Amino acid sequence: MRQVLFLSGKGGTGKTSLAAAFAVLAKNTVLADCDVDAANLHLLLDPKVVEEGDFVGSKEAIRDASLCTQCGRCREVCRFNAVSEDFEIDPYLCEGCGACVTACPTNAITLEPRISGRWFNAETKWGPLASAELLPGEETSGKLVMQVKRNMEPLVQSMNAEWAIVDGSPGIGCPVIASVSGVDAVILVTEPTLSGMHDLERILGVVNHFRIPSYLVINKADLSTDLAERLEGFASDKGLPVLGRIPYDRAVTDRLLEGRSVVEDEESPAGAAMRDVFENFMEASQ
Ligand code: SF4
Ligand code: SF4
Repeated sequence: MRQVLFLSGKGGTGKTSLAAAFAVLAKNTVLADCDVDAANLHLLLDPKVVEEGDFVGSKEAIRDASLCTQCGRCREVCRFNAVSEDFEIDPYLCEGCGACVTACPTNAITLEPRISGRWFNAETKWGPLASAELLPGEETSGKLVMQVKRNMEPLVQSMNAEWAIVDGSPGIGCPVIASVSGVDAVILVTEPTLSGMHDLERILGVVNHFRIPSYLVINKADLSTDLAERLEGFASDKGLPVLGRIPYDRAVTDRLLEGRSVVEDEESPAGAAMRDVFENFMEASQ
């Protein structure tokens, strides 16, 4: 099984559209959406959820008011200002460090598991999809990405999949590092803008650190031919193979609104470019 991860320096670069295109074009595939802060691969794949569950990513302090003598020790030791003047604990500020549990003389506080998100396994016509959603305000996205990747494993084994197509998080933070683990290749998707160039440099630094073969795709390449050429020059200097340029094409959004991938649209220039990118990747990664 070969695991291919799609990354971009920021959101909205077309990373998910390209991952969905690969899901359509590659055969015998398992899919994973590791963009747990804003999962949207499912929008393109019309999934039917077959299994789901809570994700417990951290712990939080719970106070039993009937045991509390209002001594104030918990408020003194909490470095996160999670304890109010009347000794209520704010679940959004509590980091679950446990200092108040140790400090409380009456054992009024306990640490309890906190549900931080939900995970889903679904069927799509292009293969099974593992995904998850982090609840608003939760910060354990790296752990939830690891959960999605763990959920992907039995799906891969049950169908002896040849491919795992993984849509990563934008940026270079913790969920990206978590999604990189175990992948065979990374496809970086960027746009020809100055910020796109800067983002590419940063994300390439992360990927190179893990010594994973990586490839570049320039999306909406016709927005600036100059900058697209500069991106290709940068890629050449860094030894980063360019799989292709995808033109701006309204059909990408139109097909998205229909719940389809643009590669299913024979008339679309972007669809044709994505099919070329797929072929180039297959050839380059042999
Ligand atoms: S567990 Fe830590 S962060 Fe939460 S209320 Fe207690 S001391 Fe504060
Ligand atoms: S340390 Fe325990 S007893 Fe004291 S105020 Fe906090 S919860 Fe109440």
